[in-house]
Parts: sequence; C-alpha cells; structure tokens
Amino acid sequence: MQFFCFCTDCQTISGAAGYAVYGVPIASVELTKGQPCQFDKQADSGRINSRRFCDKCGTRLWAQLDELGLASINALTLDDKSLFWATQNHLPESAPSWCTLNRTLETLAPIPRE
Ligand SMILES: [Zn+2]
Repeated sequence: MQFFCFCTDCQTISGAAGYAVYGVPIASVELTKGQPCQFDKQADSGRINSRRFCDKCGTRLWAQLDELGLASINALTLDDKSLFWATQNHLPESAPSWCTLNRTLETLAPIPRE
C-alpha cells in the first residue's frame, strides 16, 4: 500500500505537509545491513510509534506500530523514488490549509484509536 500520511507526527518529523509511505507488514521488513537507532513515541492514537532512523545521518527509515504489525517505510529513502505512486491519503483532514491535496486519491480509513 502506498499513501501520503498527513498525521501531525509525520508532518513534524518530515518537515513536510505529508509523508510518502509504503505501508507493509512488519514481518516483511528485512534489514540487509546495519542497525538503525530507535525512538519510541506515543502517537495521538495512544499507541507506541516506534521510529527507526539512521545513526549516521538521522534519516527516518521507517516507523512501526508493533501491536498492529504494521510498518510505514519512508518511500523517499529508497533508491528509485519513481516507483512510489500513492493511491491513498491518510488523515487528509490534518493537512495544513496551504497544502494542495491530490483529491483524486482515495482516503485511507483511519486506524482506530485504542
Ligand atoms: Zn503519519
């Protein structure tokens, strides 16, 4: 699943209106080298959003919600950025008022709060 996330957490960490995400099961994430740093933050939903980032440059690599088994991969960290093609918006109501949303995309159903 490829989407733009407009949650306030993604805005804060990315410095952009939305965050380009590959949403995948955590079990499908395979680390081939290195060991990312980890920072756990309580999300607006009350769940723990566990961020993984590079200890050399600070780039956010992915975040994961362990209890849901989901990972949100930073789509623009991959070598071929042209492969990312969002089909959905997540939480578009949280987008800044100056942001021009692609309204042709479906709206991803919000993940229920705890
Ligand atoms: Zn988000």
